Amino acid sequence: MHRQIITDPQSGEKICKCFKRCGGCQLQETYAEQLSRKQDKADRMLSKFAPVQPIIGMAKPYHYRNKVQNIYGTDKNRQIISGIYQSTGQKMVTVDDCMLEDVHAAPIVQTVKKLMRDMKIAPYDLRTGTGLLRHTLIRTSAATDEIMLVLVTASSMLPSKNNFVKALIKTHPELTTIVQNICPDGLPLTLGTRSVTLYGNGRIEDVLCGCRFRISPASFYQVNPQQTERLYSCAIKFARITEGVTVIDAYCGTGTIGMIAAKAGADVTGVEQNRAAVRDAVYNAKRNGLTNIRFYQDDAGAFMQKLAADRAHCDVLMMDPPRAGASPAFIRSAGKLKPDRIVYVSCKIETLERDLMLLKKEGYRVTKIQPVDMFPHTTGIETVCLLER
Ligand code: SAH
Repeated sequence: MHRQIITDPQSGEKICKCFKRCGGCQLQETYAEQLSRKQDKADRMLSKFAPVQPIIGMAKPYHYRNKVQNIYGTDKNRQIISGIYQSTGQKMVTVDDCMLEDVHAAPIVQTVKKLMRDMKIAPYDLRTGTGLLRHTLIRTSAATDEIMLVLVTASSMLPSKNNFVKALIKTHPELTTIVQNICPDGLPLTLGTRSVTLYGNGRIEDVLCGCRFRISPASFYQVNPQQTERLYSCAIKFARITEGVTVIDAYCGTGTIGMIAAKAGADVTGVEQNRAAVRDAVYNAKRNGLTNIRFYQDDAGAFMQKLAADRAHCDVLMMDPPRAGASPAFIRSAGKLKPDRIVYVSCKIETLERDLMLLKKEGYRVTKIQPVDMFPHTTGIETVCLLER
């Protein structure tokens, strides 16, 4: 195992030797400098709409990632190595300790490598299409202490499967579930449609803002739980939820934001494209004893068009689209639906700027902008905006 992280004795800040080669971090400067860089960018791009609040940073911006993905390969001595993709291209950088990842992940990856060697399980080679293990995905919850390991394999055959699982559990009793996901083709780091639970119940649960959420291997779930609580609290505050307010939670994932609004008394409709996430959302609503929330599996734009055509009533539209932002159809339908407030949670400031312009044309005014640092050491900026008619 190679130690790659050093702590600067003066500032106490961590420095990683893989920086630049590895695709994990994009910023190597003090955390205060990172926050000021992000604030400047948010000001530059968004202050034309409304004043930008000071970015909410982390007290300890390390080991925040609850989702850790690793790829595997062999070095010139035919030893199994693990790492992540380079910032450019699809080559692997050997990474054994990472300052972004939850500290539980690295020891599990070390054991996976050892067991691959012992049980002759070859890493999958993207170029030749040979080998078995494509990547591993580890999801953790600090709130419940549950840890899931997903072994993503190119075929369903896993030699010495029972011994592999037994040895993993023996070395890592902290693992609560192990899943094999079969992914014969597709892009690197994607999951296949078929999963087999090898140990435990195939899912973990996490707690955010007092609600409990089940997470399946393929569901989207925010990767920085500490900052997610701050982000969601801000979104709920902007939404001004009172008893009986009608809310649409668009791009709802496992139903997190909508469920917190429902707990505060709102009547919520969630829409999400990913089938596994919707299944989790339905389960999560029951798990939290909420009957004032329902979910639909659909394209958010198409769903909004239907609601607009039906002249449905909506007080608050909460939207949290992927990086590409919302579709033109979604924005137009939001304009027709005329919610009093729109709370836009964005993970990409460029598409946020574009969509805010479009929503302005639909008759909305941006009244609050709050950036939250969800991804320290990367260039990503998460922002919550309130728009009012
Ligand atoms: N609000 C959730 C998820 C946000 S991520 C949370 O905070 O956890 C964005 C989500 O949008 C993902 O779950 C993704 O599957 C979903 N998504 C992407 N494109 C979509 C579309 N066209 N229609 C509906 N959902 C979509």
